[in-house]
Amino acid sequence: MAAPNQIAYTNKRVLDRYLALEQPADKVMATYIWIDGTGENVRAKTRTLDSIPKSPKDLPIWNYDGSSTYQADGSNSDIYLHPCAIYRDPFLLGNNILVLCETYRHNGKPTESNHRKSCAEVMDRAKDQHPWFGLEQEYTLLDQDLHPFGWPKNGFPGPQGPYYCGVGANKVFGRDIVEAHYKACLYAGVMICGTNAEVMPAQWEFQVGPAEGVKMADDMWVARYLLHRVAEDFGVVVTLDPKPVPGNWNGAGAHTNFSTTAMREENGIIEIEKAITKLSKQHIRHIKAYDPHEGKDNERRLTGHHETSSIHDFSAGVANRGCSVRIPRQVAEEKKGYLEDRRPSSNCDPYSVSEVLVRTMCLDE
Ligand code: ADP
Ligand code: MN
Ligand code: MN
Ligand code: MN
Repeated sequence: MAAPNQIAYTNKRVLDRYLALEQPADKVMATYIWIDGTGENVRAKTRTLDSIPKSPKDLPIWNYDGSSTYQADGSNSDIYLHPCAIYRDPFLLGNNILVLCETYRHNGKPTESNHRKSCAEVMDRAKDQHPWFGLEQEYTLLDQDLHPFGWPKNGFPGPQGPYYCGVGANKVFGRDIVEAHYKACLYAGVMICGTNAEVMPAQWEFQVGPAEGVKMADDMWVARYLLHRVAEDFGVVVTLDPKPVPGNWNGAGAHTNFSTTAMREENGIIEIEKAITKLSKQHIRHIKAYDPHEGKDNERRLTGHHETSSIHDFSAGVANRGCSVRIPRQVAEEKKGYLEDRRPSSNCDPYSVSEVLVRTMCLDE
């Protein structure tokens, strides 16, 4: 029986013949990327440009059918794509580009899933404090039958223990995808800074940052696009579900590391502690911003077990992975650096997460 996307398994040498065709020097293939109405999934479509753009302002505003992306009714369905960041295209190479976009309605208002606009405004108001973010994106690879990749089809792998940062064909599943994705991110211009195999087999993590302001979330969305797209080439599915396998298996988060200039300077630990006090008073507001369903997704993950804190309480501590917020050991020793908010869900919108962090800690809202 032929799998529906059997093409994923055909020899890519055939594709290479066409990709090697000479491209006219004045033509650029621009793949516009945006977040759809789920607030979790990305969409993309490609057009030809007649010159090489130097900045997003040089790029045309484009549109698409929002009734097919959970963003509009069929009767008034055009949604507008406003280019906001350019990356190199690691698939089509040459002058071809990826264009990260914001989405707007015909009346000029941002769509419900456009959280970038308000994030960028908040970052601008806090720019004197130079907020830096580093996000750890955990994710799980699935087979096309949506069963965890590499797991026995009728049962479970052995209990957690040997898999985290594991090496060997019985410890980790899907390293090809992880390495291809890492290279693709570096080529594209995404500030990826590391990767590791996670506690649950077929679960992995990569980190982006530290990047200032809205740049971290821009890079994270492009990194997610690249991950889905690379995995597609391997015939594998990526899920950002925060608890893909119920029971004694770790969930997936998006730990968000944060600092300001004051935190990074000598004795910045005092600023870090002040910021944690502010966070402790806004726990519910943050939980609402940390997954696309106002805490519903994180309810399955933040149980107080499997290296998580309870969704109902705020806690903080040095080197404690069972807390909402962790001060890394090295930061406590050097008395400066950053804090780690461990609450965001793997499927969070990094625009919403970074925005609320700045509102609470930098703008005292
Ligand atoms: P963990 O020990 O929690 O697994 P990782 O090494 O996975 O930590 O991730 C650390 C993250 O912290 C990276 O995304 C990195 O960019 C970020 N980071 C490092 N220094 C800072 C800083 N001063 N401000 C904000 N983020 C930072
Ligand atoms: Mn990590
Ligand atoms: Mn991790
Ligand atoms: Mn972490």
